[in-house]
Amino acid sequence: GHGSSFVFVIMGASGDLAKKKIYPTLWWLFRDGLLPPKTFFIGYARSKLTVEDIKTNVIQHMKVKPGEEEQLKEFFKLNDYVAGAYDKSDGFAALDKVIKGKGNCNRLFYLALPPSVYESVTLNIKALCMATSGKWTRLIVEKPFGRDLESSNHLSSHLANLFKEEEIFRIDHYLGKEMVQNLMVLRFGNRIFSPIWNRDNISSVVISFKEPFGTQGRGGYFDSFGIIRDVMQNHLLQILTLVAMEKPPTTASEDIRNEKVKVLKSIQPPDTANIVLGQYVGNPEGQGDEKQGYLEDPTVPKGSVTPTFATAVLFVQNERWDGVPFILRCGKALNERKAEVRLQFRDVAGDIFPLGEAKRNELVIRVQPDEAVYLKMMTKTPGMTFDTHETELDLSYNSRYKGCKLPDAYERLILDVFVGSQIHFVRSDELYEAWRIFTPLLHHIEQNKPKPITYKYGSRGPKENDVLCDKFNFRYTGTYQWKKPDAN
Ligand code: NAP
Ligand code: NAP
Repeated sequence: GHGSSFVFVIMGASGDLAKKKIYPTLWWLFRDGLLPPKTFFIGYARSKLTVEDIKTNVIQHMKVKPGEEEQLKEFFKLNDYVAGAYDKSDGFAALDKVIKGKGNCNRLFYLALPPSVYESVTLNIKALCMATSGKWTRLIVEKPFGRDLESSNHLSSHLANLFKEEEIFRIDHYLGKEMVQNLMVLRFGNRIFSPIWNRDNISSVVISFKEPFGTQGRGGYFDSFGIIRDVMQNHLLQILTLVAMEKPPTTASEDIRNEKVKVLKSIQPPDTANIVLGQYVGNPEGQGDEKQGYLEDPTVPKGSVTPTFATAVLFVQNERWDGVPFILRCGKALNERKAEVRLQFRDVAGDIFPLGEAKRNELVIRVQPDEAVYLKMMTKTPGMTFDTHETELDLSYNSRYKGCKLPDAYERLILDVFVGSQIHFVRSDELYEAWRIFTPLLHHIEQNKPKPITYKYGSRGPKENDVLCDKFNFRYTGTYQWKKPDAN
C-alpha cells in the first residue's frame, strides 16, 4: 500500500550467489527506479562483515557505469549487515531488531544458502522475524529443492508447516527468461499456431540446453547432482509444461500453475531403455580448458559416473499429445551455448513433390543466446525454376527489437516477489510431480551406475543422442542452410 516500506534480507550474504546475482540485481532494480521508494537491504551470514566489506565483494559484478557513483552511494546507504548463526535465535533476534528499525515493513527473505541450513533458518525466521500488523513476509528459495522425491517432500512439508504457499517463491530462473515467458503469448495469442499445436501435426518436440564449458574446478558441487538434477528436472521440464499445457481460463497465476500441474500428472517416468547419458573427455587438439576431461577436474571424485550430458524422452499422455515424444537434451562442454525449443511438424500428407524434397517444418523458439522465433519452411526456389527450397520466417529480436534491453531473469523474478506475482515460480505440487517423474531414473543411475558414453569436449555430444532423436520422430536431413540477413 501507499507509503509501505520493504526490507529485503539476503540470508547467506557472504556467499557466491549473493555476490554474483542478488546484490547486483538489487542494485540494477534500484538504479532503474523499479523498487518501491522505501526499500532497505539487509545482509545476514555468520562471517563478521561490514557493509563496506559486502561492497568490496560485490562491486566487480555490479557493472557500475560512469555517472552512477552518487546513486551507488545511495544504494549502499540503504544497506545493513547483521552477523549471526543459522541455528541459534540470538542472531535472528538481532536481525529482527534491525528490520523493525526500518518501520513496520513488508519482509522478503532470500535463502542464498546451502540446503543443509534451510530448515534451521526457516524455523528461526518463523519464530523471530515475521512481519506484523498487516504486513507480509515472503520467502525466496533456490534450487536444489531436495535431491529426489523423498528429500524434496521432506523439505516441502517442513516449509508448509511454517509458511503458506503464497509466501513461498521457488525460483527457477528459466521462468524469468523472455522467450520462456513468450511461450504463452505465442501459443494462445495466435490463431495460426493454436490449432496445429497437437499430435495431429507435430511429430516431436526437442527441448535443448547446451553449454560450451565444463565444470572447470567446480566439479565437486556438480558431481553430487549431475546434469539431470541441475538442468533437466527443473529448467527443461518447466519449459515442457509451458509448451504442452492447455489454455488456462485466465492469466492468473493459480490458473496457469493448475494447467502446468495437469501436464506433469500426464507424464510417466522416462523409460531407462531410452536414455542417453554422456560424460565429456578432453579434446587433445583443443585449447586451454578443452583439453581437460570431466574426470581430470581435480574436484571430481575418481571414476565418477555422473552424467554431464543426458537425453530423455517423455510422453504427455493426454488427448492433445498422446504418442508425441518430448525429447529433453542437455549437456556441458558442447560445441555451443544454446537453449531452445524445437517443434518438428509431420511430413506433408499426399506429397506431390519429388520424394524427400519437402522437408519437415520446424518452429524454433530460441531462448538464448540471441532470442528468436523462426519457422523453417519450404518455398519455391526464386527465379526461373519450379524447384523447392528450404527457408524460414524469422523473428530475430536483435533486428526486430534492436536496442530494446531485455531484463535479466533475476531482475524480473525479484520484482515479481515484491509485487506478489507467482506466475513464474514453481508451486509445491509442480515440484512434487517433477521429482516423481525423474526419481526412478536418478535412483537407477545411483544404484546401477551405468557407465556414461564419452564425448569430446566441444562436440555436439554422443552420437547415440542423434540415434535416439531419430528413433523418436525427429528427422535431421542436414540440408537446411541459414544465411544471416546482414550477410547479403
Ligand atoms: P555458498 O557461497 O556456498 O554459501 C552461501 C553462504 O552460506 C556462505 O557464504 C556461508 O556464509 C554459508 N555457508 C556455506 N557453507 C555452509 C555450511 N556448510 N553451513 C552453514 N553455512 C554455510 O553458496 P552459493 O553458491 O551462494 O549458493 C547458495 C544457494 O543457491 C545454494 O542452495 C545453491 O545451490 C543455490 N544456487 C547457487 C547458484 C550460484 O551461482 N552460486 C546458482 C543457482 C543456485 P557464512 O559462512 O558467512 O555464514
Ligand atoms: P539445422 O542445422 O537443420 O539443425 C536442426 C537440428 O538438427 C538441431 O537441433 C541440430 O542439433 C540437429 N543436428 C545437427 N547435426 C545433426 C546430426 N548430424 N544428426 C542429427 N541431428 C543433427 O537447423 P537449425 O539449427 O535450426 O539452423 C541452422 C543454423 O542457422 C543455426 O546455427 C541457427 O542458429 C541458425 N539460424 C538462426 C536464425 C536466427 O538467428 N534468427 C534463424 C534460422 C537459423 P544442434 O542443436 O546440436 O545443432
